[in-house]
Amino acid sequence: MTAPIIVWFRRDLRLADNPALHAAAAEAAVLPVYIDDPDDPWQPGAAARERLHDALTALSASLERRGSRLVVRRGTALEVLHELVEMTGAAGVYFNRRNEPWWRERDEACRRALAGRCAVRDFIADVLFEPPAVCNRQGGPYRVFTPFYRAVRRDHEVPTPLPAPRLIAPNEWPAGLQVEALDYRSGARWADGLRAHWQSGERAAHAALDNFMAHVEAYPQQRDVPAQAGTSNLSHHLAWGEISPREAWHAASAWSAARGTTTTETGVEAWLRQLAWRDFAHHVLFHFPHTSEAPMNEAYAALEWRSDPAAFECWSRGRTGFPIIDAGMRQLWHTGWMHNRVRMLVASLLTKHLGIHWLEGARWFWDTLIDADLPNNTLGWQWVAGCGADAAPYYRIFNPVSQSRKFDPDGTYIRRWVPELRDTDAARVHDPAGASPEYPRPVVDLAPARAAALERPRQGPHEARA
Ligand code: FAD
Repeated sequence: MTAPIIVWFRRDLRLADNPALHAAAAEAAVLPVYIDDPDDPWQPGAAARERLHDALTALSASLERRGSRLVVRRGTALEVLHELVEMTGAAGVYFNRRNEPWWRERDEACRRALAGRCAVRDFIADVLFEPPAVCNRQGGPYRVFTPFYRAVRRDHEVPTPLPAPRLIAPNEWPAGLQVEALDYRSGARWADGLRAHWQSGERAAHAALDNFMAHVEAYPQQRDVPAQAGTSNLSHHLAWGEISPREAWHAASAWSAARGTTTTETGVEAWLRQLAWRDFAHHVLFHFPHTSEAPMNEAYAALEWRSDPAAFECWSRGRTGFPIIDAGMRQLWHTGWMHNRVRMLVASLLTKHLGIHWLEGARWFWDTLIDADLPNNTLGWQWVAGCGADAAPYYRIFNPVSQSRKFDPDGTYIRRWVPELRDTDAARVHDPAGASPEYPRPVVDLAPARAAALERPRQGPHEARA
């Protein structure tokens, strides 16, 4: 038997459309490895760790069904890989590339250190197109989504997904940990509540996609209505790589083709556009790696933010006194997920009306989202705060009451997550001051807070550049 090839799984926890796994399986016996690396500065947050535990358990089970297994190790990635190469005589280490800055540096370090000892090959798996492939006429990165998407649709074909390969097991398995030993499960009661709202693994991801395809036609009408299950709910599967964006893209395109329609006619286009937003987020973080910590738009770097721990506490616990905001923050707390429209509203209240730094909000999301993903989270927060690529202009400030009337007109979503307002009628549920003694008064007076938010960018270096 030839020497095995190590396949280093990261956020690509699937067997199908996994180019690193596919290439390794075509050449040799495969040694699937997952490394919990304590050096990673972007350790998953509390909710994401719960989700990761389940994703790894599901991957491990599907490998076992194919006569393979997942070797789980804890330690600095390079040291673990070195040791495994030495121990098994592996002929190669294959992995799929990531676009997060620290991961890119680590990958490069591993590539350099392992070269000469074994073959190191990396592949593209997590995006529709590798960031440098989509570029403007000058060969540079796009900073605005619409031309990025136009270029995607005009100049690029999304590659066909790869099937799950047949796996040959190595002669010997190195020792590894049980997934449980990673202690990603907290054992806390909130985590059981969270777990009741999701399913993990590649099969569950494909089931979610199939389920969504059955009502994809309604996506353009329903995607902004948080009371309805009108979106795919694939983000956590995509975030952990239980399904690839290429699989999702091709499933939607095939759905249209099977009906003899173009994607535009069926409304599938609106959904493909969202998948492309995800790619755009990766594209931005790849080209502008500093944006995970600093605004893309430098004019906003010196913007003054307020420190207000009491208001932040109200926001994070869903006790702001604005029902749509509180419903969203409680949905997040109880399920680890929040509807996109509501993510925009809660981020707007925090950064605009309360004037609190977008990074504080982004960190809370990082800790509480099961789909927490650095490129998407960074792009989302900077977009709303008005300081990122393709940002909503700073003068676009969502009013949580009028947005609530528009997107949750009869208050179904609010009543689902804010039990204090369960008996409040549709006329008052969006702005219920005094409607229920248990429900808090608004944490901020919207009109003056809006005026202050409009003033803030004019006070800094932004004005000098405007
Ligand atoms: P669908 O509407 O079915 O969309 C399909 C897929 O497209 C999603 O699964 C997602 O991968 C992608 N997508 C959809 N909307 C966006 C978007 N606005 N930006 C980038 N990709 C998108 N998404 C994350 O995956 N992780 C995050 O950490 C994250 N943080 C966010 C923070 C803020 C402040 C905002 C405004 C948005 C954030 N998003 C994040 C994007 C978006 O809210 C979620 O991806 C979406 O709610 C997922 O639901 P879905 O899978 O049903 O989406």
